[in-house]
Amino acid sequence: MSSHYPTRRACQQVMVGHVPVGGDAPVVIQSMTNTDTADAAATVAQVLELARAGSEVVRITVNSPEAAAQVATIRQQLDDQGCDVPLVGDFHFNGERLLRDYPDCARALAKYRINPGNVGKGSKGDEKFAYMVKTAAELGKAVRIGVNWGSLDQSLAARLMDENARRSEPWPVEAVMREALIISALESAEKAVALGLLSNQIILSCKVSHVQDLIAVYRSLAARCDWPLHLGLTEAGMGSKGIVASSAALAVLLQEGIGDTIRISLTPEPGAPRDKEVIVAQELLQTMGLRSFTPLVTACPGCGRTTSTFFQELAAQIQQFLREKMPVWRLAYPGVESMNVAVMGCVVNGPGESKLADIGISLPGTGEVPVAPVYVDGEKTVTLKGEQIASEFQTLVEQYVHTRYGEGGSKRRKVIPLKPV
Ligand code: SF4
Repeated sequence: MSSHYPTRRACQQVMVGHVPVGGDAPVVIQSMTNTDTADAAATVAQVLELARAGSEVVRITVNSPEAAAQVATIRQQLDDQGCDVPLVGDFHFNGERLLRDYPDCARALAKYRINPGNVGKGSKGDEKFAYMVKTAAELGKAVRIGVNWGSLDQSLAARLMDENARRSEPWPVEAVMREALIISALESAEKAVALGLLSNQIILSCKVSHVQDLIAVYRSLAARCDWPLHLGLTEAGMGSKGIVASSAALAVLLQEGIGDTIRISLTPEPGAPRDKEVIVAQELLQTMGLRSFTPLVTACPGCGRTTSTFFQELAAQIQQFLREKMPVWRLAYPGVESMNVAVMGCVVNGPGESKLADIGISLPGTGEVPVAPVYVDGEKTVTLKGEQIASEFQTLVEQYVHTRYGEGGSKRRKVIPLKPV
């Protein structure tokens, strides 16, 4: 990897079930269900959907006795279907009671998410926190100390405000609040270690809902501990706003080597699939060059030189085709996930981008000869024309995958026209 790629911040490695987080492990993608966990069938179906899309850890809400009673069944049903994705229990307010009353639930989960702001106040809260941490220690479970802007420990915030008032030059209120989040996470983690949890069982998060706050909080947190960090912009929102805000915040931090596991907290449109957040997380990591999941399609936006939507449709079709093929290709063709495919709209940039891709097609723009040259490993190999361009190009992509990534395949481009930047 070239030197302009980030070096990850050094931190401990935590095992979440069989998935390593932190250390030298790649950045792990997480997601969360929005089903009622008491409805085991619906929760199993959604965990499967998220895991098939590529979520490597899935969090489920454990908020009631009915939910806790179903967790072991959910785990069993996933195992029966060959899905070993680790489950994280999201606990607030009553976690210690649920873990005590439902030991099967405690055992079935790979990690407990504890929000110090929602455990309880005073000595009662301390006892509940201690019970959850000791249960995790006894059962060898990972714990995420997950602090959230919306549920910050108010007594801690008040303490820091008082301390701030005594400063000769008090900090702005927002800076004190950010500090309160960080202190809450760090003090809780230290308390957990004092209670017997191993240091390498702890992951931290401090989620806020504004991009600049998130960046400031995580930069500071990263500099002050060596626990793995879970990144996510909480309440990121719907549609493009949620995607842009999450990507803007996470990209800055990831580029600085900060972040060991990520979640894109999108609010899905009504009826939309839940796995969109997983695909966005994959695309973020892949477009940054940090991990590869599915071959990506480079497509131009189109302009006045393209009078039809044919090339946009072809680009969408090819991306869909690649995604559908990946479950089989991943096993049969190692390395295929980093392949690049170009679908371009005219001769202005078409041949150039197609040459840079592993395989690319340059469609004819308005007034151009109605032919579509195909480039493989930077060289023009064939020119397609007529009604069947789309299906013929798909066949060529499949042949290319087989030749390059199949058993005995070359694995490498024959021609690499890219010059280092
Ligand atoms: S490659 Fe051609 S069609 Fe695509 S945006 Fe550029 S000029 Fe327009």
